[in-house]
Amino acid sequence: MDNEKGRERLPDFVCAICQRTVDMQWAGYRIRKDTPLAPLCAYCEHHYSAGIGQPQHGSFRDRREVKRGFALAEALRTAAMHQKWSNHVIA
Ligand SMILES: [Zn+2]
Repeated sequence: MDNEKGRERLPDFVCAICQRTVDMQWAGYRIRKDTPLAPLCAYCEHHYSAGIGQPQHGSFRDRREVKRGFALAEALRTAAMHQKWSNHVIA
């Protein structure tokens, strides 16, 4: 822990999808493969990107960014479908 003195921990943020505050207290000082990255919490990142296949090219971080972008798009699509079909009345 001595080599981590003087570093600032990663800042907390609010998830863009579920609006929960992500507490980065235990995330440490480095970004790892499972560290939540703003603006998505870990749950939303995994849940909304479940429909995409693993990208085959690029570095791990590039592939993760593709999945995060897909997750945001999927959340928007889900919200739009919910709004459209919530007005649908079955006669
Ligand atoms: Zn979330």
